[in-house]
Amino acid sequence: MPGQCFPALFYDKKAQTDMTRQQGVVAIVAAGLAAAGGLAAQQAPAPNLEVLQVRPNFYMIAGAGGNIGVQVGVDGVVVVDSGSASSADAVVAAIKKITPRPIRYLINTTADSDHVGGNETVAKAGQTLFTQGGGAGIGADFLGGAASILSVEQVLTRMSGPDRPKYPVGAWPTETFNQPRKYIYLNGEGIEVFHQPAAHTDGDAIVFFRRSDVVMAGDVFDTTRFPVIDLARGGSIRGEIAALQKLVDTAIPSVPIVSREEGTVVIPGHGRICDQLDVVEYRDMVTIIRDRIRDLIKEGLTVEQVKAASPARGYIRRYGSDSGSWTTNDFVEAVYRSLSDKGK
Ligand SMILES: [Zn+2]
Repeated sequence: MPGQCFPALFYDKKAQTDMTRQQGVVAIVAAGLAAAGGLAAQQAPAPNLEVLQVRPNFYMIAGAGGNIGVQVGVDGVVVVDSGSASSADAVVAAIKKITPRPIRYLINTTADSDHVGGNETVAKAGQTLFTQGGGAGIGADFLGGAASILSVEQVLTRMSGPDRPKYPVGAWPTETFNQPRKYIYLNGEGIEVFHQPAAHTDGDAIVFFRRSDVVMAGDVFDTTRFPVIDLARGGSIRGEIAALQKLVDTAIPSVPIVSREEGTVVIPGHGRICDQLDVVEYRDMVTIIRDRIRDLIKEGLTVEQVKAASPARGYIRRYGSDSGSWTTNDFVEAVYRSLSDKGK
């Protein structure tokens, strides 16, 4: 629930002291914050961002496109996703309001413009941890000393390839990986980045802050609609369900004392703050619809006949849409085509 603070299970005394000053920062960051920073005014009006404190050292910024995660500690700030380009100045202003510490890392969960659009602005507002020179004669400040940008390889490939006109070099990831799991250890906790190779796209990542016990799910989990399965960019229904299963396996619910409402915090790519049981429900919903479509395909139905059979029934009021960029029919068709495509 927006506005709800989850009690922390573990956090060190130092961070606690540090964060005491920050208690109550939970606030609505009003329009115009960006202007206060002396930054050039954007054409679009500054958005109203909502800043929620989910742990003593962890915040969520909503309203800038995709949800943004902000972890704060002695090493500085680790940010997950940068929102849309039009919100970037306001996002930086919101982070500066949370803490004066420098942004050190930006981790991207996808190459979508509502998650990487603010990359350059957010990274340049920060300061790299690497001040000593990057080896092989390359100065660590070759990108102006901006914060590092970490992502799976596909995000860089996309931003520097087909989507290149949209993104200057300063917005590109500076550190990429292609193995299933990448980790860093900052602000006193392990941060794991899990590549989901064929879910929403081929370049999704789930970011798990182990000590804060917060998972940034990215767009494999979107509580505002059916998951967007972007077949053209390597997404698949099988990989989508596998990614949701990975979230279920990573998070722990508030058991056996359910009434405490503790447990791992799961922040979806879009929508409200969730827990493991919310992800279980969402995974089951996607799986049920997948099974219905698979059965209809076995009966030999065409994609139009499958749409007419309404395989998403029971979930349309909550997640469906007849208009916009991702309709119920778009979802049904993506699942149909993904299942029809051998191996997916
Ligand atoms: Zn998104």
